[in-house]
Amino acid sequence: DTTHGRILYLEDVHVSFDGFKAINGLNLDIAPGELRCIIGPNGAGKTTMMDIITGKTRPDRGTVFFGSTIDLLHYSEPEIAALGIGRKFQKPTVFEELSVFENLELALAADKRVWSSLRFSLTGEQKDRLAEVLHTIHLSDALTRRAGDLSHGQKQWLEIGMLLMQEPKLLLLDEPVAGMTDEETERTAELFLRLKGRHSLMVVEHDMHFIRAISEKVTVLCDGSVLAEGTLDQVQADERVIEVYLGR
Ligand code: ADP
Repeated sequence: DTTHGRILYLEDVHVSFDGFKAINGLNLDIAPGELRCIIGPNGAGKTTMMDIITGKTRPDRGTVFFGSTIDLLHYSEPEIAALGIGRKFQKPTVFEELSVFENLELALAADKRVWSSLRFSLTGEQKDRLAEVLHTIHLSDALTRRAGDLSHGQKQWLEIGMLLMQEPKLLLLDEPVAGMTDEETERTAELFLRLKGRHSLMVVEHDMHFIRAISEKVTVLCDGSVLAEGTLDQVQADERVIEVYLGR
């Protein structure tokens, strides 16, 4: 079984847009509980890769497995979300007029088990989860605050919290610290280290200080496939990586 011990497995994935190869023989392997950073120049295929994993884009060919048994190419975008793959886009999209608590509560309503009633009350288990998520995202003291009044960083954390309410197995995050202050970035690193182990994470980032703080393994994408993989020090010392960052 070639997918043993993997939460995510991509092999020889290809996608073309009007003849342009955006993803070109991509291979990727993420272990359960791993926090993997993805870097690469603009146009490398990072967004397209996440679109493939979440079912937004269908590859022309290749293998995309979630765990050792689930062939993601057989599932739709909402089905993939329900399987436990959460995605956060770069801009925070919280409900500004609602409180922190209400935003997290509403995130549970995306869970089909509570769809049946518009007014629902949280079970004890859900209350515990909400308290734990609030702690994880550094917002325990901001329960009743209007989400629109939070700082940019806090909104990003709240949106991560909304994903966590659905207990995802794998989280895909696009530039989570873009626009954050240094202090917020540091606290986000803490937050991610808390999530690691319990969840698998794939983080697309440009901030090298942040990457150094959170990740053991970095994958460098370029021209739709993996150019290099290793620790941040290893990939930063790789001449091919230096060339794509400096030579273009
Ligand atoms: P990254 O996120 O690393 O910047 P993308 O995945 O957004 O890279 O894009 C990879 C390449 O594919 C780029 O050259 C981009 O212009 C092209 N591309 C992405 N999506 C489409 C699309 N829907 N139609 C045409 N070209 C696309």
